[in-house]
Parts: sequence; structure tokens; C-alpha cells
Amino acid sequence: MRLLIMGRPGAGKGTQAANIKEYYGIPHISTGDMFRAAIKEGTELGKLADSYMKQGALVPDEVTIGIVKERLLKEDCKKGFLLDGFPRTVLQAEALDNFMKEQGIALDAVLDVNVDQAILIRRIVGRRICKTCGATYHIEFNKPKVDGICDNCGSPLTQRPDDTIETAGSRLDVYDKQTAPLLAYYKQQNLLKSVNGDQPLDKVFDDIKEVLSK
Ligand SMILES: [Zn+2]
Repeated sequence: MRLLIMGRPGAGKGTQAANIKEYYGIPHISTGDMFRAAIKEGTELGKLADSYMKQGALVPDEVTIGIVKERLLKEDCKKGFLLDGFPRTVLQAEALDNFMKEQGIALDAVLDVNVDQAILIRRIVGRRICKTCGATYHIEFNKPKVDGICDNCGSPLTQRPDDTIETAGSRLDVYDKQTAPLLAYYKQQNLLKSVNGDQPLDKVFDDIKEVLSK
């Protein structure tokens, strides 16, 4: 099974990726892990990526694509893989397609764990944290016994500065703008399978298994 997983930040993609990895017995290949591994192994591309990242610069497409190819050629990817965080652009998607064609393989599906932007914003904006003991709450979904007070230690609850409607909204807008062309690209190829991410986690995974069995 060769898969790609996508989803808005906060939609629970990470949990589902872990489920897929375990259930289907395929490696979960996230861009971050892959970069760290290439840098640690000291491959030519890893060194190159490292030099860009150290300058705080974006790693160019050809380097990223090269690292992905190196990873996908490893033994554990023979039975399949789950890509996460790559491709991010249509250009990268086309490069991946070309590479897979050369290898005589193809993606089976592109999973989109879909949660409405409005729902994600509601989840983020309602988050409250206790700075004293680190406990987390939500004003609707995980209320403390007393409003604004930590159940564990009695300290006042606060909101992270990033958890405002403005910050959360613009973060999600950026994601949507970046990924819309990619979703359209895979939809056109009949690979895109959306699952409703606004459900209990085990139900989301049941839906994933269901769409992958078709
Ligand atoms: Zn506390």
C-alpha cells in the first residue's frame, strides 16, 4: 500500500498516520524525520539540506525530492509506505510521480483527514492551559470544574498567545492556500479520498480502512 496523508494542522493526521503504520505494516515517512535521518547519516543531500536549514533558508525542491527518493529506495519501502508532509506543491507531486513511474510503482490513495476550518478554530481558540502544572483544558470540550481555574493545582488558566482566532485563522489559511492545488491535482487523478476527521479517533480510522478497502 503506497499512501500519502494530508490534513489541516490540528485535524489529527499524526494519530491516524501512526494507526496506518501499525495496521498496514508500512513505514511512516514524514518529511521532518527524513531530513533528520539524512543529516545524521551524512549523505550528500543531507549535508546540503543541513546547510540550507542552518541559514534558516527553505530547502530547495530538488534537494527535498532527492532525499525522498533516497528514502523510498530503502528496503522497508518495498511493501509500501505512508508519505506525510511531502509533496507540498504540485511541482513536487509531479517529481514524485515521475520517480514512481521509473520504479514501476504508483500511489494507491491520497488520504485527506478533513476537519472544517471553523471547527479547528473553535478547538484552538477554546484551549486553556495551566502554566503551573501544564494541565490543558478546553472551554467547551474539556472544562475545568471551576471556570478559569486548574482542577489539579488551583492556578488561574491562561490562553497561549498563538491560540487566538486571528493567528489560528491565518495559519489555516496559509495551509489551505498551499494545499488547494495539490488536492485538486490528486482529485483529478482519482486518488483523493477524504475522511471526516471530526469524529472520535477510532471512528476516523475505521473510515480510513473502509475507503482504502475499496
Ligand atoms: Zn495546574
